[in-house]
Amino acid sequence: MSTILQALRGMNDILPDEAERWEAYEFVLAAWAKSYGYRPLRTPLVEPTALFRRAIGEVTDIVEKEMYSFTDQLNGDHVSLRPEGTASCVRAVLQHNLLYDGPKRLYYHGPMFRHERPQKGRYRQFHQFGVEALGWLGPDVDAEHILMCARLWEELGIEDLRLEINSLGSAEERAQHRHALLAYFESHAGQLDQDASRRLHSNPLRILDSKNPDMQTLIRGAPMLIDHLGPDSKAHFDAVRGLLTEAGIQATVNSRLVRGLDYYNRTVFEWVSDRLGAQGTVCAGGRYDGLIAQLGGKPAPACGFAIGLERLMALVEDHPPAPTSTEVYVIHQGDEAATVAFAVADEMRRVGMSVILNCGGGSLKTQMRRADASGAVLAVIVGEDELRSGEVTLKPLRAQGEQWRTSRTDYIEQVAELLLGQNEDEQLEDENGRTGS
Ligand code: ATP
Ligand code: MG
Repeated sequence: MSTILQALRGMNDILPDEAERWEAYEFVLAAWAKSYGYRPLRTPLVEPTALFRRAIGEVTDIVEKEMYSFTDQLNGDHVSLRPEGTASCVRAVLQHNLLYDGPKRLYYHGPMFRHERPQKGRYRQFHQFGVEALGWLGPDVDAEHILMCARLWEELGIEDLRLEINSLGSAEERAQHRHALLAYFESHAGQLDQDASRRLHSNPLRILDSKNPDMQTLIRGAPMLIDHLGPDSKAHFDAVRGLLTEAGIQATVNSRLVRGLDYYNRTVFEWVSDRLGAQGTVCAGGRYDGLIAQLGGKPAPACGFAIGLERLMALVEDHPPAPTSTEVYVIHQGDEAATVAFAVADEMRRVGMSVILNCGGGSLKTQMRRADASGAVLAVIVGEDELRSGEVTLKPLRAQGEQWRTSRTDYIEQVAELLLGQNEDEQLEDENGRTGS
């Protein structure tokens, strides 16, 4: 016997019960983004590797060691599975000149791929819902992003996400800070771990993002970028924070928040939960004013954020979703009856009912058993007798009651009435259950 092949490590199947929950979330998130005027964008899962190298930065964890990159065997192209959505979004906007008539609000969602060590909340294929605003300088739109997150948490009943915010200033301010940082870390070279030593001259800012506990004291003493902000960056940051305060949103300034992607400047933020262990960041984003020009476009400011859907969904204690309920099961016997059964099932689906048509034959008794197991409210039976008289039999499956025959011209109204009655009964039961508990 051959062994059953398994999915790749860190890449998960989402089985029907869970997948129904995913669809519900995707629907809620899309409606939420639309309510702020954002419009959907869908881009390929595979892009030229050069896009990510240029956008995210050569000396980042993602580009250095997390990307699924390969050579297309057919044409020799260097391609990568997308590790995030912003680079593709900006590429598409530039390729199709979407900014020609002004700024754009966009959202996307779907799988991203990073070769990381799989653990709870960290996968090799994971899903993001991302929001991007291209063409606005802010600070109003920066605040809009943070406030729309807060609104979403409220809608989903998540109460424990805290907001951390920082400003990365401008490229010049970061260069000044880099100087100061380099001098500081060079004078403490003995305390740097291997990763940090390697980064010292390529990207010292990223040392601040180290998760190594032994490095934390050294990092706490390092020069702060926030002390190197010029008046414009400072005014921008103060304005964002002012708008948050006005809206009653608490933000903690975390001067060590640097983000793992090189394209950010000015405002950066993360929403963090303490309930997810080391994988506590549920949503992260910020401003990336240089990226559009860096990817060859006419310079324009932009900002955005992405929500990790696995982490978000782990925070919400949902009631298990009610499985999509089958309402009607169609039973039939004989070739001619099968043709009618197909038509009958289709008629009911056209008016919005959820109908399973018996497949694979079986005696009437077998089909009745399947009908019961399907959870349907009633069975519609097309047998030889029904065929002759131009009727169908309706048999309630859950409620007590006899079956009866009715004409094929008006059975749908009776089915509808029966389903309605069943729904009302269930609602009553629900309400009694609630008041009773
Ligand atoms: P982390 O510090 O946890 O590695 P990151 O800074 O690499 O996160 P971003 O690139 O900012 O993450 O992605 C935005 C969000 O996407 C994260 O806050 C997280 O919720 C989610 N995310 C990122 N990588 C993964 C992953 N490997 N598995 C599951 N979710 C992820
Ligand atoms: Mg990461």
